[in-house]
Amino acid sequence: KMIEESGTLAVFDRMKKLRAMGKDIINLCVGEPDISPSQDIETAAIQAIQSHHIRYTPSEGIPELRKTIAHMIQDEGWRADENRNLIITAGAKPALFTTLLALVKKTNEVLVPVPFYPSYAPMIRYAGAKPVYVPGNPQNGYKISPQDLKPYLTPHSRFFILNSPVNPTGSVYSPDELQELLKFLDKNHIICILDDVYRHFIYDEAVKEEIARILKPFQRSIILIRSLSKEFAMTGWRIGYAVAEESLITPMKTVQGHIIGNAQTASQLAALKALQNPEKYALSLHVFKSRRNDVLEALRQVDHISIIPPAGAFYVFADIRSIHPEKSDVIVCSELMEKYGVAVTPGSAFGLKGFIRISYADGNRLYEGLDRLVRGLASR
Ligand code: PMP
Repeated sequence: KMIEESGTLAVFDRMKKLRAMGKDIINLCVGEPDISPSQDIETAAIQAIQSHHIRYTPSEGIPELRKTIAHMIQDEGWRADENRNLIITAGAKPALFTTLLALVKKTNEVLVPVPFYPSYAPMIRYAGAKPVYVPGNPQNGYKISPQDLKPYLTPHSRFFILNSPVNPTGSVYSPDELQELLKFLDKNHIICILDDVYRHFIYDEAVKEEIARILKPFQRSIILIRSLSKEFAMTGWRIGYAVAEESLITPMKTVQGHIIGNAQTASQLAALKALQNPEKYALSLHVFKSRRNDVLEALRQVDHISIIPPAGAFYVFADIRSIHPEKSDVIVCSELMEKYGVAVTPGSAFGLKGFIRISYADGNRLYEGLDRLVRGLASR
């Protein structure tokens, strides 16, 4: 009862407690790959420290890294000047928060599709603005179309946070869907904050290339947010970046300068190593693709479960309402943990009750965890 009332955080607290008491719990909540970055990247950071690259950098990041990113972005067809259009941040989260702090006004409304990454709403509120939740379309993997968005527009609508591939569903906006949405936002003078952290994890290569082409004509109304966290398995290194028009990036530099100053110096040099040869250092998708297929295969054994077909990221989002019509997702998750020793994230954490999110980012005990999950769900 207490867990249900205090919500999703209580599930994680309970996991920590149970583990501290010696209970074996396999954690399928993790949002970071289990693979280590290449030794070359580690060496770049160690060398940076040993050669005393340990001082402040400009707030927007070291010029070499900005130049490398600017070239990458230009290759995707965007105009990107390393001095005007980009800022190196300490990951995607700080990039998002800096964007909101620098650009959002108290009267602004920020549109957020449901289900959503849990940090969006608190960040919007800390920035003093109002999140407006837009329910995704269940018939289309909970993605949003202009028709879904229209009823939520007001004269205060100013920003829209688009995350694709989506955490938690693994849905990917198709090039056509993306184009339609961006056109609509542009027409309504709404800036699209594009949370692109899972860009690498699109399992259809052709779609990936087509998306870059679609974004190009809308670059003036997009703030592109990326990070090295998932793509290069550099979560703890805290490096990301934002690319946008100069008028949007300039205030972000000021805000970042007053908060963190700059992204960690040795991490910037490690990121430089990674981005100078992304084909070599980005994670191989094969591993994740086959894990995804294995998760789907395992869940086929569960009657009445309904899965959103995941085309990207490293999550599977499953509707468990027909399995447990009387129980909340939070209760189901805590029972799975207590009785079956497996932790998955309740949909409530992402604003959508009656679902669970299974992460396959970590493959270490994935198959054992899936066995436990399948048994737990099957024994309702
Ligand atoms: N956006 C989304 C959708 C995420 O899932 C995450 C990480 N789980 C982030 C942003 C934050 O990424 P970073 O580690 O680069 O701050």
